[in-house]
Amino acid sequence: MQLAYQYRLLPTSEQQATLNRWLEMLRHQYNWMLAERFDWWEQNRNPVNACPLVCQLPELKDQPDYYSQKRALVPLKQDRPWYKEIHSQVLQDMAGRVKLSFDRYIKGDKNGSRSGKPRFKSQNRYRSFTYPQASIDWIDGNKIDLPKIGEVKVIWHRPLPPGFEAKTAIITHKADGWYITLTLQDESVPEQVIELEPNWDNSIGIDLGLEHFIADSEGELIDYPKFLRVAQGKLAKLQQKRELRRKGSVARKKLNQRITRLHQKIARQRYQFHCETANRLLDKADVIFLEDLSIRNMSRRCKPKQDEEGNYVANGRAAKSGLNKSFADSGLGQFANQVLPFKAEKAGKRTVKVDPTGTSQHCAICLNRVPKELSDRWHSCESCKAEMPRDTNSGMLIKKVGLGIASLKKLDWVRLGREARAVPPSGQRREYVTPIRVARIFGQVLD
Ligand SMILES: [Zn+2]
Repeated sequence: MQLAYQYRLLPTSEQQATLNRWLEMLRHQYNWMLAERFDWWEQNRNPVNACPLVCQLPELKDQPDYYSQKRALVPLKQDRPWYKEIHSQVLQDMAGRVKLSFDRYIKGDKNGSRSGKPRFKSQNRYRSFTYPQASIDWIDGNKIDLPKIGEVKVIWHRPLPPGFEAKTAIITHKADGWYITLTLQDESVPEQVIELEPNWDNSIGIDLGLEHFIADSEGELIDYPKFLRVAQGKLAKLQQKRELRRKGSVARKKLNQRITRLHQKIARQRYQFHCETANRLLDKADVIFLEDLSIRNMSRRCKPKQDEEGNYVANGRAAKSGLNKSFADSGLGQFANQVLPFKAEKAGKRTVKVDPTGTSQHCAICLNRVPKELSDRWHSCESCKAEMPRDTNSGMLIKKVGLGIASLKKLDWVRLGREARAVPPSGQRREYVTPIRVARIFGQVLD
C-alpha cells in the first residue's frame, strides 16, 4: 500500500538560499535538455516534397534520450563545477522529468491521451525537486536530514504510519513556504484486491453536478460550497487592484503574493470539502456508483434554439454559464476521479463508474421516459406518480444501472418491445419501454 504524507519544512534562511539555488540550477538544466530534444526534431527532419532526389545528408545526430541525457550530466559537472553542489540523484531525476514530459507529448500517458508541447519553465513554474531514494532513517527528532542540504526542521503535524518505508521525498516551494512530501510504502501489506460485490443494501448511487454538488440515491443533497464563490469575489477585487499598480512596482508584487496565497487557500478549502464529502458518502455504503462523465462535456456551450419563424429564443445559456462556473470552481473532476476513489480504496471500499446516458430523462421508479429541460428541477412522473428532486431521481437511477437491476427484467422488456412493435401506435408516442430505449439506458448492462 502506498501513501503520500506532506509536512511543512522550516528551513533556515541559509538553507532557503540553497534550496532556491538548486531549483534555479535544475530549472536551467531542464530547459536546456528540453531544447536539446526539440533541436533534434528540427534538425533531423525534411519535408518529403522539398527533398531533391540527390542530396547531401547532414551528419545525423543520435536522438537524445533519457540515458544519453543522464550520461551528459557527468561532463556537465566538469564544465560547471557548481552543479556538484546538487545531490546526484536529484539531478538525474530532473532528466527523468524531461523524459516524462516529452513522452507525454509524443506517445501519451498510459491511457494514450497526449499532453501539449512541453513548455520551457519560468522561475514560477519550476518549484520542486525529488530525492528518488528517501529513507525513514533521515528523520531525527523534529528534523529531517536531507542529503547535501543538512538537517531541516519539520512540523510533524501527524505521525508517520508505523511499518512504512519511505520511497521518495519531494521538496516543494509553495506560496506560503517549503514542504516535503514523503511517499510511503508498506511492503508487508499486499496490494488489496477488493472483492466487494455490490447489492441493494451496501451500495448507493450518486449524481454529480447541476443544481447540487451531489445528490445520492438515499435522498440526501449536498450543495455546492459557498466559500468558493465568496473567495472568488475577493480574488476579483484583488486582481482589479493589481491592475492599477505599475508593473514591476513593490505594491504590485505584494498584491501578487496576496493573490497566490488566496488561490492556495481556495484550493485547500476545496480539497477539504472534497475529503469531507467523500468520507460522508463512504460512511453510508461500501460501493458507490457514480456517473462516468467527462466534465468537459458538461461545461460545453448550449446549442442555439430557434422558434418557428427562425428567431432565436432563450436557450438557458445564461443559467448554464452560471452552472459552468460552479462546475469549474467546485472541482467535480478532482472529486470524482481522484479524491473519492482514493478515499474509498483506503477504506477498503469501492467506486464504480456507470454510463450516465438517459439517467436524467427517465423515471427511477418505473423507468418510463420523463423528458426534462435543463431548467426543470423537479422530477414528477405521470405513470407512477413519483415526485422528487431531479438530481435524486438521477442518483437512484445510477444505482439501479450500476447494480444491473435492468438485466433482471431483461426478458420482460424484450416481450414488451415485441408487443409494441406488433401493434405500432400510429401517430402516438409509445407507452412501452422498448428494447431500444432500454438498451440506451442500460447500454453497458445488457450488451
Ligand atoms: Zn415513474
